[in-house]
Amino acid sequence: MREDRAVTRLAGLLMALLLAGCATLGGGKPVTLDPYAERFVKLTLEIGEIEPGYVDAYHGPPAWAEAVKGKARAIDVVAADVAALKAEIDALPASRLDADQAKRRAYLSAHLRAAAFRLRMAKGERAAFADEAEALFGVRPNIRPLTDFDPALARIEALAPGEGPLSERVAALRKRYEIPADKLDAVMRAAIAECRTRTIRHIAMPAGEAFTLEFVTNKPWGGYNWYQGGAQSLIQVNVDQPVFIDRAVDLGCHEGYPGHHVHNSLLDVRLARGKGWVEFSVFPLFAPIGFIAEGTANAGIKLAFPGGEQLAFEQAVLYPLAGLDPATAPKLAELTAATAALSGAQYAVADQYLSGKIDKAEAVALLQKYQLTNKARAERSLRFIETYRSYIINYGLGREMAAAYIDKAGASQSARWAAMETILSTPFLPADYTK
Ligand SMILES: [Zn+2]
Repeated sequence: MREDRAVTRLAGLLMALLLAGCATLGGGKPVTLDPYAERFVKLTLEIGEIEPGYVDAYHGPPAWAEAVKGKARAIDVVAADVAALKAEIDALPASRLDADQAKRRAYLSAHLRAAAFRLRMAKGERAAFADEAEALFGVRPNIRPLTDFDPALARIEALAPGEGPLSERVAALRKRYEIPADKLDAVMRAAIAECRTRTIRHIAMPAGEAFTLEFVTNKPWGGYNWYQGGAQSLIQVNVDQPVFIDRAVDLGCHEGYPGHHVHNSLLDVRLARGKGWVEFSVFPLFAPIGFIAEGTANAGIKLAFPGGEQLAFEQAVLYPLAGLDPATAPKLAELTAATAALSGAQYAVADQYLSGKIDKAEAVALLQKYQLTNKARAERSLRFIETYRSYIINYGLGREMAAAYIDKAGASQSARWAAMETILSTPFLPADYTK
């Protein structure tokens, strides 16, 4: 009897397990996204052959890149494959996907949707700024009229009083805060080292992770992280224009820690290699992951330097290294904080310029006015807008959404960093910020 009861209990337990299995996996075989992910990577590499710059980083099997090098098929053929792969992935029954595979499915589907739109752009199709942003990054920006930013300009008037246009007065004020060229390397290295120290207290980085720092010219951007695979990055800083002292920490956090270097390293080591999720061996630029990357890279500055810690560090370490007077640091911090309210003005200028409503000279003038900068820097901003178009929303709007997600974790530093680590090391989509 005792045995019988044990057998009955065992049978009941087995039945319960089977039912539990049915509830999550629907009776069919569990599905892995692995074969779909491989097709996604190969298609992404092929789109990279159609559009140079589309693939920001790749560290998967070299043979896959070799196979498409210089051999991209016609855009329509690639687009048909992208549509077919997306349809197959979308049709997978949810009941056969466990939690991890469901996340991979959402990630791959969102990225194929973006790829399909990017291929339409490669054929010359153009959409309105907000429509393009939504199609590529999965987030619709609210484009406010430029007049919305006039009150912020009026507040800045008080910080830079005098005659002539406000942009020239602010540019003249900022000029006092340029890092001398011969001090730039030391200042940048000290800034990145501090960003790293503050990050690795909270996020375990792969052994041997490292970066190389280079100074370059004639680029449309201010800084760039070229991820090399194996937790190695090449960080480039554009020195066409002198670098302001408060940009050192920004760049160190954004390109390095906890920004792009950390993000790419974690996706590579924990997902691509750690779990064999090969879709994380490739980084398409014009896709939702771009929104996550730029937003976290910018939100990481305040996370690593909460409250007045950036100013305190700059006064104690970076100003002396640059040969600048630390007593003048609060003035620049105040100005930078006030100009942050103007970040959305760039979207309005880009929208008008890219849709042909204003010409180049008008766009440069508006960027000068609303970014409070000199002509050369405004021209570089316009070059960035021409090259990357709606990608610019990833910085301001991306930062706001990442920061709001981190804020939801509460005031504790460990909880805030844990929230950041989740974004940086899982198949995280912009829609996940508001879930
Ligand atoms: Zn960036």
